[in-house]
Amino acid sequence: MPPVLHRQGWIEVIAGPMFSGKSEELIRRVKRALIARQRVVVFKPRLDNRYHPAYVVSHDGERVEAIPVGRAQEMEAHLDPLPDVVAVDEVQFLDEGLLPLVERLAQRGVRVILAGLDLDFRGEPFGLMPELLARAEFVEKLTAICPRCGAPATRTQRLVNGQPARYTDPVILVGAEEHYEPRCRACHQVRY
Ligand SMILES: [Zn+2]
Repeated sequence: MPPVLHRQGWIEVIAGPMFSGKSEELIRRVKRALIARQRVVVFKPRLDNRYHPAYVVSHDGERVEAIPVGRAQEMEAHLDPLPDVVAVDEVQFLDEGLLPLVERLAQRGVRVILAGLDLDFRGEPFGLMPELLARAEFVEKLTAICPRCGAPATRTQRLVNGQPARYTDPVILVGAEEHYEPRCRACHQVRY
């Protein structure tokens, strides 16, 4: 391990479809920073209540404590004193305020770890992700396995009542039975 001569900040992004292990990878990086006795603050959007509101939880059950935020601006209150590492899960759901915030943190020497879906169920860039991917020093794109053909899955298939979702479907469909699975480019389907 080389000596740390000066404190250097940067942005790293972990991207990929659902079930590609993004939260797991974020948790792995956070735990390593904690072992190195670094001060780490973890955030997640408040709308994500899949498991527990105060943790980032991976599909294999690993977890780290996280502060749920409704807007990026709410993070500011938790960043004084400035931590060594700031990690944010599910960044595709956060507002544009995240961009200047993460730039400022990296500029001030903070290692920023961001995880999120790069593509929505239509296969189109999701929220802030294109901008974050461009600004990041380091990008890791994870893949899942396509259950149809076994190829690396880069996309998230949305199924509504067993059918591929329509392009025009809203993000939340009341009364419909929804299911998501990873798919490769060839097997990913959207109804137009
Ligand atoms: Zn496939």
